[in-house]
Amino acid sequence: MSNVLPAVVIGAGPSGIETAVELRRRGIDAEVFDAGPLGHTISWWAPGTRWFSSNDRISIAGVPLQTVDQAKASREEYLNYLRSVVDQFAVPVHTFKRLVSITPAAEPLDDAPSCWRLGFRRTSGEPSAAEQARGGVSRSVDTSARSHTDFFLDARAVVLAIGGTDFPNRLGVPGEELPHVDGFLREIHRYHGRRVLIVGGRNSAVEAAIRLHRGGAKVSLCYHREQLPSDGIKYWLRPEIEGLIRSGSIEAYFGSRVAEISSRHVTIRSQGEGDSAADTEVEADDVLTLIGYHQDQSLLGQLGLVSDAPSGAPLYDTETMQTSHRGIYVAGTAVGGTQSSRYQVFLENCHEHPRKIADHLCRERVASAPGGGPGRGNTRDDGLSKRIAMQPES
Ligand SMILES: Cc1cc2nc3c(=O)[nH]c(=O)nc-3n(C[C@H](O)[C@H](O)[C@H](O)COP(=O)(O)OP(=O)(O)OC[C@H]3O[C@@H](n4cnc5c(N)ncnc54)[C@H](O)[C@@H]3O)c2cc1C
Repeated sequence: MSNVLPAVVIGAGPSGIETAVELRRRGIDAEVFDAGPLGHTISWWAPGTRWFSSNDRISIAGVPLQTVDQAKASREEYLNYLRSVVDQFAVPVHTFKRLVSITPAAEPLDDAPSCWRLGFRRTSGEPSAAEQARGGVSRSVDTSARSHTDFFLDARAVVLAIGGTDFPNRLGVPGEELPHVDGFLREIHRYHGRRVLIVGGRNSAVEAAIRLHRGGAKVSLCYHREQLPSDGIKYWLRPEIEGLIRSGSIEAYFGSRVAEISSRHVTIRSQGEGDSAADTEVEADDVLTLIGYHQDQSLLGQLGLVSDAPSGAPLYDTETMQTSHRGIYVAGTAVGGTQSSRYQVFLENCHEHPRKIADHLCRERVASAPGGGPGRGNTRDDGLSKRIAMQPES
C-alpha cells in the first residue's frame, strides 16, 4: 500500500488548487491532476476577457490578487496568478492527464480507510518516470484510443474539483457542425471586418457582442426572449449593449431562434403571435453560439453521483463535501452540476469547500489512527440530501 496517495485532487482550476494548498497546509500530501493545462477552463476564455467577480472574491489560498490597474483581473492576469500560487506552495500539478475511470481499489472493511483506483489518460506527452514507478503503466485497452497511454494510481481520498463548463451547449439545428460555427469566442482580432452573428443574450453573448463591435466586426445578436434578461447581465454591460442596439450599431433579433445555418446565411425564425412566425436570412461569416456550457458528468455517472435535478448536480454532505462514497469529495463549481444559464455557484461562493474537506480528512485521520477514538464516524449518509438548492433553469 506504499504507493497509495493520501489525496488526489482532480481539476487544476482555482478550486482544485485552493483545495490542494489547504490539504498540504494541514499535512495531507495532495497532488493535482488536470486534463488540460493549469487553469484549463480559464485558458480557453478569449484573450483579454475579464472576470465579472472582483479580485478579492476570486483570490485563493489567502494570496492577494493584484492587477496592474486595479481593475477586475483578466484571463492573462489570473493565469499568471494561478501559476504563482502553485509555485509559492509547491503544489504538484500534473497537467494533460484526464481521469477516465474511478473504481474502489479494494473492498474496504468497515473500519478500513477508503482506497480508490484512478485510471488516467494522458492527453499529450508520455508518462513520467515517477508515474511509472508509482502506479504502473499499461497500454490503453480502449482500442479507439490505442495511441494513448493509461496509467493508474491509488488514492485514499479523491476530490473532484472538475468544474461545470466542459462543453458549450448546442442549438440542435441543421448546419451547426459547419466550421464557421463556434461555441467559443476567440481572439477579437480575427473577427475584424467580418459579419458575426452571436446567439445568446446573457453575459458571455453580450460581452462578446460589445467587444466584437468595438473590434471592427459587424455584429448581429439573436436571442430567444423578447428582451435582454433583467437579472442575467452585469450592470455595467447593460447600458452599453442597449445603446448599441438602439443606435443600430448592433442589429438585434429578439423573440427569435436560429432555425438553420448554411455556409453564408443564418435563418432566424421570429416567434410571432399565433402562427405568424417569420424567417429572416442574416448573412454571417462567423456564428458564435454563446448559450452556456454543460458539465462532463461521465465521472460522476460512473460513481452514481448524478442527481435527478435538471442540473445533475452531485449529492454531497454540505458539512464535509463528502459524497455518498467514503473518500470521494466534490469541490468548487463542480457541486453545481450543469448550471445552464442561471448560475448560482461561482468561485466566490466555493472558498469554504477546501477547509471543510481538510477538516473532515483530518478528523478521519485521527479517528483511524491506532487508539484514535471510537469508530470512524462513517459520514456516508450524514446530511447527504442537504444539497445546495438550485434555482430552476430557464
Ligand atoms: C467567460 C467566463 C467568465 C467567467 N467569469 C466568472 C466570474 O467572474 N466569477 C466566477 O466566479 N466565475 C466565473 N466564471 C466561471 C469560472 O469559470 C469558474 O468560476 C471557475 O473557473 C471555477 O473554478 P473551478 O476550479 O471550480 O472549476 P474550473 O476552473 O472549471 O476547473 C475545473 C478543472 O477540472 C478539469 N477537469 C475536468 N474533468 C477532468 C477529468 N476527468 N480529469 C482531469 N481534469 C478534469 C478541467 O480541465 C478544469 O481545469 C466564468 C466563466 C466564463 C466561461
